[in-house]
Amino acid sequence: MANEWEIKKEICEIGRRLYAQGFAAGNAGNISYRLSGNAVLCTPTQICKGFMKVDDLCEVDMDGNQLAGKRKRTSEVLMHLEIYRAAPSAKAVVHCHPPHATAFGVARVDIPTCILPEVEVFLGVVPRADYATPGGQRFAETVRPFVSKANTVVLSNHGTVSWGRTVERAYWYTEILDSYCRMLMLAKQLGHIERLPGAKVHELLDLREQFGAGTDPRRVHGGELCVNTEYGRGVTGEVEPDGAGDAAASPSDRAGDTSAEKGRHSADDFEALVKTITARVVDALRSG
Ligand SMILES: [Zn+2]
Repeated sequence: MANEWEIKKEICEIGRRLYAQGFAAGNAGNISYRLSGNAVLCTPTQICKGFMKVDDLCEVDMDGNQLAGKRKRTSEVLMHLEIYRAAPSAKAVVHCHPPHATAFGVARVDIPTCILPEVEVFLGVVPRADYATPGGQRFAETVRPFVSKANTVVLSNHGTVSWGRTVERAYWYTEILDSYCRMLMLAKQLGHIERLPGAKVHELLDLREQFGAGTDPRRVHGGELCVNTEYGRGVTGEVEPDGAGDAAASPSDRAGDTSAEKGRHSADDFEALVKTITARVVDALRSG
């Protein structure tokens, strides 16, 4: 294990990356590392993560009492401690406000799965915790239900938190998530988002095990393989009027279609939708 000085330097380096990536505007975000025994290194409150020095860092016990450091510890360390209690393998926690992932938390949209290989292998399902006022014990407890089933959680209307064996790894999960959320938003603007078939997702989960990253919690606890399959289904997938017939069939009903065919279907679907709505408006006007 690296010595304490090296770990403090790593926390400052990851702080610089958080700030440089735009994941921690102003004084946002916090980082911690669990030392052996009862002690946890953490970042102080009211400091820009981009310019921290080793002697700015604090040390707390597992109840959040400050043991060392000239600056006051972050109030959000209580959430980090909750994660350390629930996940014995977690050695480091990174919390920040990466814009694309946080946008999903603000819109209260679940992060879809079964789309990008890297996300299936390294993150799996990214749950979304309820909102609570940042800083207190109630806020800390919002992540507890998910700690045994994930390594990254979106905090509703707030940000993200991720944890791992090293500070860099915890940070890395956040970076993968924010990059993924950005791709999802871009792809959605282009139209339809294609899902990977279940068999292909299982091949990725096999890879995860071969990399030594452990068994994906979806295989341990069961539950949905593909989360939020509605995301990116496109206009015609989201609005399915009664009686629109085959033209409004869902994308999953057209598994064999090529992309070009899908594009044509979308145009056909849209026309069918317009016809249906027009017919209903005319009916309503007549009966009125
Ligand atoms: Zn925060």
